[in-house]
Amino acid sequence: RADMAMYQAKSTGRGRFSFFSHELNQLAQERQELENALREAIENNELKLHFQPQISMSEGRLYGVEALARWEHPKFGTVSPARFIPLAEECGLIGVLGHWAIKEACQQMAIWRRKGINIPAISVNLSPSNFHNLDLCGMITQTLTQHNLQASDLTLELTESVLLDTNPSTMKVLNEVHAQGIRLAMDDFGTGYSSLSYLRRLPIHELKLDRSFVLDLENDATSRALSDAVLRIGESLQLKVVAEGVEEEGQYQILKGQGYHVAQGYLLSKPLSSIDLEQWIQNAKTV
Ligand code: C2E
Ligand code: MG
Ligand code: MG
Ligand code: MG
Repeated sequence: RADMAMYQAKSTGRGRFSFFSHELNQLAQERQELENALREAIENNELKLHFQPQISMSEGRLYGVEALARWEHPKFGTVSPARFIPLAEECGLIGVLGHWAIKEACQQMAIWRRKGINIPAISVNLSPSNFHNLDLCGMITQTLTQHNLQASDLTLELTESVLLDTNPSTMKVLNEVHAQGIRLAMDDFGTGYSSLSYLRRLPIHELKLDRSFVLDLENDATSRALSDAVLRIGESLQLKVVAEGVEEEGQYQILKGQGYHVAQGYLLSKPLSSIDLEQWIQNAKTV
């Protein structure tokens, strides 16, 4: 009897194990497929940039656009950056992806300039490991020159996680980029669990209040107090302060009342293809 019970336990155990390992295998296989597809997509230039307008609240004018990577795959459909950016980071593709985004953004800016479409500046998101690359600044300045752009036409968005990382190249690259006159924005500000002391040593120009603080502005006094505090930190350091994820007119009015400089969010526009952005600018002019 005892033997029998043990035999059963073992066999169910083994059965379960092989069930899990089957699932894990399948997950690993899917991930591998997606990784291969991403590598191919980057090589074949199948990723696209979309552009989300940022509005200067006091003047009601276009302040700039944020470039956001998009991937439409024939088999996997639309793959969100929340999925493929971490994948690119894990499988060593983030370097090429960062390079691609800078080149693509600069090329698009040059096209807009040639067409006489006035887009004051473009922001590109970079991942922490992009700043490990000691050639980053040289690559960017070369790309800017190639497209007849000024350093101040470009903003690099980084997150606080860049600073948690102890790679010795990071500060060097950030200082080089700053010395060239390229602007730096702290993205998702307030969510990074990092100490504020970096604000003393980091050459940033812009704080982007994270969307999570904007979400409850209308109903929650604490959110209002926090967005106000972030604005004051930014202003006292002479930084531009941008609110992200503005979806409601009420949120916009609160932020404007607090003195926010720039707003970005679905209320104004979703991220758009280059053609749709041109149309959006045309329509905005006639309003
Ligand atoms: P992020 O840089 O904070 O970009 C803002 C995200 O919020 C974008 O999501 C944008 O579409 C979305 N968003 C903008 N306005 C609203 C709004 O009013 N409501 C809501 N609910 N969402 C809004 P997206 O495009 O899915 O990108 C997600 C994240 O992926 C980005 O967050 C950024 O961290 C990363 N990412 C995107 N493109 C790139 C890239 O080229 N390189 C790197 N390294 N990261 C990228
Ligand atoms: Mg961003
Ligand atoms: Mg952000
Ligand atoms: Mg974000």
